Amino acid sequence: MGSRESVTGAGDTGTRDAAMESFEEFQKNAVQVIEGDSRKLSSVKDGMAMFVDSKPGKRGERFRFVPVASLSIVADDLVNGAVEHSEYAGFLLPGRGYAEFTVRPSRSMPLRRYIERLKWVSDDAECSHAFIPSEPTRPNGREAESSRIGFHVHSPKERACVELSRATATATFLTDPWPFVTAYPENSLRMYTLKVFVEPSLDGESVSRQATDIAARSIFELDIRNGIHFVLEPRERLRVSFEASPGSNSPKIRFPRLKTPREVAALFSFAAEASDNPPFIFLSYYQVLEYFLPMAHKRDAVKALRIALKDPYFDEGEDSSVLTLLNSIERLKQASEEEQLKVLVRDFVREEKLKEFFDDVDVKHFANKGPIAGIPEISLHPKSEPLSVQVAKRIYALRNRIVHAKDDPKYASIPVLLPRSVEANNLQPDVALARVLATEALIHGQG
Ligand SMILES: [Zn+2]
Repeated sequence: MGSRESVTGAGDTGTRDAAMESFEEFQKNAVQVIEGDSRKLSSVKDGMAMFVDSKPGKRGERFRFVPVASLSIVADDLVNGAVEHSEYAGFLLPGRGYAEFTVRPSRSMPLRRYIERLKWVSDDAECSHAFIPSEPTRPNGREAESSRIGFHVHSPKERACVELSRATATATFLTDPWPFVTAYPENSLRMYTLKVFVEPSLDGESVSRQATDIAARSIFELDIRNGIHFVLEPRERLRVSFEASPGSNSPKIRFPRLKTPREVAALFSFAAEASDNPPFIFLSYYQVLEYFLPMAHKRDAVKALRIALKDPYFDEGEDSSVLTLLNSIERLKQASEEEQLKVLVRDFVREEKLKEFFDDVDVKHFANKGPIAGIPEISLHPKSEPLSVQVAKRIYALRNRIVHAKDDPKYASIPVLLPRSVEANNLQPDVALARVLATEALIHGQG
C-alpha cells in the first residue's frame, strides 16, 4: 500500500506547489507554521494534507496527516506552544493548561471497538467547556440514544476536567508519525484520547505534572470502579526481543536437553509474553535468579564449611574452634538477598560470559551517567570491584527500583521505575543482562 503515485486523484494534488496553489491565504500560512524547519507538505488527498519529514531520520521517511479543515487549528496550537509529551504519546499545551494522551485498551482489542461497545454515562460537568459526546465511527446497530461515546467530568475542588473523546487533529499530528502513506489516517487506532484541563496559569512543568497525574488517576479509577482497562500509550514503545542471530530465519532445532523445572521455564517464558513491557521482562528473569538463590547459597555454605572442617587447626575439642564454625554458619544464614545474589553471579555465571556481554553492549548505558538513575554503574576499569559483584549490585538495585522494595531502607528513597516511563523504555541493555544471568543460572543449576 501507499506509493506516492497513489496519492494523486481527482481534485487532489500530487505536489506541494499544486497543493499550495489550491489553498487560501490563511491555509498557506498554517501550512508554513506546520512545516517549520523539519517537515514539508507533500500532497493533499481526500481533504487530508500529508506532511513528510524534510530530513528523514534513521527510521526512514515518516508521514503526518492533517485534515485540510484543521490546518489552522494545528498551526494555532503549535504557535501557542504545543509540544509532545516527554513520556506518553500525546501533547501538552501548557499556556492553555491542556494535555492530551493517547489511550489504548490493555487487551488486544481495537480501541474503537473497546470504547464504542460501551454505553457511557457520566457525572454532569459544571464547567466552561462544551462537550458533545462522539458518535460511533461505525454504526454499531444500537439505537441512537445509546450512542453517546466518551465523557467530560469536572472537579471544582481541583479546578480540573478530564475528558475521553475523539483525538484532536493536533494530537494525531504530534503522535508518532506513520512509517507509510495511508489512505485512512482518520481510522487510526489512536482515534480516542484522554484530555485533561488544568489551570492555565500554572507553569509548564506543573501543567505537565498535574495533567499526567490526573490522566493516570483517571485510568486507575476506570479500571478499579468500572472494569475498563486502558493504558496510556508510551511515547516510545520498546519491543524487547532476543533473536539468537538477528536476521537468521533458519532456526536449528534439537531435542531439549536442559532439564529445566517447569516452574522456572514458565518464569523464563513469561518474559516473552511481556515483550513490550521491559520492567516486567526484567522481573521475569529476576524471578528465575531468585529461584536459584537458595541453591547457590547452599552450595557456597557447604563449600565454606567443608574448608573450615578441613582446616588443620580446627579442633572439635576446642570451644573457640566450634564457635568460629558456628559464627560462620550464622553469617551464612543471615546473608541478605543482595549477598546471595552476589554469590549466585559469582558461582553460577561464567566470567567470560559477562565479559562477552559487556564487549558487545553499549557500555555508556551502564556508566555513571546512563539513562537509569539511582542504581550502581558498571565499570570495566581494572581497579573496580569484580564484575560479578558490580553486576549483582546493579541488578539487585534495579529490581528494587521496579518493585519499590521498602524492605531495604537503602532503596526506600529512590523513586519507583514505572512500567511505561522513559526509563522503562531505556531498559533493554539491563534486561539483556538479566537474561544472560538467568540463562547462566539455568545452566549451572542443572542437577
Ligand atoms: Zn470542563
